[in-house]
Amino acid sequence: MREFAYERAAGVREALTAVADHPGARYLGGGTNLVDLMKCGVEEPSRLVDVRRLPLDGVREAPEGGLVIGATTTNSDAAAHPEVRRRFPALTQALLAGASGQLRNMATVGGNLLQRTRCGYFADLSRPCNKRIPGSGCAAIAGVHHNHAVLGHTDHCVATHPSDMAVALAAFDAVVRYETLDGAGEIPLSRFYPPVGDRPDQESALPPGALITAVALPGTAAGARSRYRKVRERASYAFATVSVAAVLDVHDGMVRDVRIALGGVASHPWRAGSAEALLRDAPPTADRFRTAAEEALSAAKPLRDNGYKVTLAQNLIEALLGELAETEKGR
Ligand SMILES: Cc1cc2nc3c(=O)[nH]c(=O)nc-3n(C[C@H](O)[C@H](O)[C@H](O)COP(=O)(O)OP(=O)(O)OC[C@H]3O[C@@H](n4cnc5c(N)ncnc54)[C@H](O)[C@@H]3O)c2cc1C
Ligand code: SF4
Repeated sequence: MREFAYERAAGVREALTAVADHPGARYLGGGTNLVDLMKCGVEEPSRLVDVRRLPLDGVREAPEGGLVIGATTTNSDAAAHPEVRRRFPALTQALLAGASGQLRNMATVGGNLLQRTRCGYFADLSRPCNKRIPGSGCAAIAGVHHNHAVLGHTDHCVATHPSDMAVALAAFDAVVRYETLDGAGEIPLSRFYPPVGDRPDQESALPPGALITAVALPGTAAGARSRYRKVRERASYAFATVSVAAVLDVHDGMVRDVRIALGGVASHPWRAGSAEALLRDAPPTADRFRTAAEEALSAAKPLRDNGYKVTLAQNLIEALLGELAETEKGR
């Protein structure tokens, strides 16, 4: 590990200034991803600016409705908050499906959004990786890629985004709020992760030096009718092979609101907009759920060894929508 400086920021402005004044400086949340990557030499920050004690934690009501979750709120606290559990159950389920209790006690909401891929070649300095060194190549395309992307990938990178939390946030149309020295801004989660294109190293739409301050969840009664389901290679402590966050709101026998977001299949949470369109304002039947699940994966381009993800994702969508529809019948 290279030498680096450490400082604890006293306020948001101090944190922004510390990063702006020191090229190569990085914010430190719980450190559960950044520090691991420093140990293996993938990340080499000159300075860590610890933001965990900034007054950016906690969950509060948004004046316009919905909830605001502070960026330094731990994954455990966000998952356990009574209003998150009641109004956005898929978010609690997604958070609890991630990592382990100890990690969730350290990991922050801001850090979770910006955690980096778990592609094995990304952390292996002896192999080419366009995400680590742009232009060096992608070892995964001809190598081990059974858990890589089936949607939205390019010849430059086929990695997936590892966050469970971000998949649920995508289904809820969450917005990421940030601060820069020039002022505050926000980015809808749907635009937070740029498409892979030919620059897989460019992983977020945040301006340089921006500090994530919060994630805002728009108020919607439909959020309560949501679920998250994750398939993984072990029962716990493993990243998603495929995951689905779904919302289904049925009134008078018709689907009024539906959202489907997929994890483990692309470089970012994948919202299945065309599948949602097939379901909206129609009866929630098993046939429609199957058709929508097929539509959700219609653009899939599996690699040599991960075609199973297409079937898995379709089955997961169909099953989750079916379960939500059953729950709706009981309301
Ligand atoms: C063994 C293991 C298993 C795991 N399993 C899962 C899993 O199943 N599902 C899952 O979703 N995750 C999993 N994780 C990942 C874990 O959720 C992330 O490591 C964690 O959420 C990152 O949060 P952090 O606060 O520790 O981020 P850090 O490691 O502190 O930071 C990560 C990145 O975010 C940046 N950053 C942090 N805070 C801010 C901010 N406020 N503004 C701007 N930039 C910021 C940092 O500079 C860094 O680039 C696992 C991790 C481990 C080690
Ligand atoms: S899939 Fe992406 S992260 Fe993995 S080796 Fe290829 S370029 Fe690197």
